[in-house]
Amino acid sequence: MQATKTIGLVAHDACKQDLVDWVTLHRDLLLTHHLVATGTTGSLIENATGLKVELLKSGPLGGDSQLGARIAEGKLDMLIFFTDPLSAMPHDVDVKALTRLATLYNVVMACNRMTADFIIESPLLNQPHTRPPLPEKRA
Ligand code: PGA
Repeated sequence: MQATKTIGLVAHDACKQDLVDWVTLHRDLLLTHHLVATGTTGSLIENATGLKVELLKSGPLGGDSQLGARIAEGKLDMLIFFTDPLSAMPHDVDVKALTRLATLYNVVMACNRMTADFIIESPLLNQPHTRPPLPEKRA
């Protein structure tokens, strides 16, 4: 992956303010990277921070799946996905598919704030890095 990362941003409803706060706090570090987000999350981030965010569909309407497709195409380096572990989601299968693909393709992924904090402070954030090959498909 290149020094400039493509970073996916998603937050479930109960976590949206937390993600907006996190992006606001790390605005300067995120400024040089390409940000792509599900519709509602991305709009909130744009409005709060003035950062340019590529907006996909809303998560329940296919936005999570769009991010999953980006991963499969090798077009997403990091995923900051603040999931709500206390609520049932109508699009739970999409959420699961997204985190599964992120795991499979070695996307750098945070599903909570502490992990996101550690990732954003990593010296690797602004360096190129070699992604390991996909595992062999098992029978
Ligand atoms: P949203 O989607 O940003 O459009 O709300 C997030 C989600 O619930 O997957």
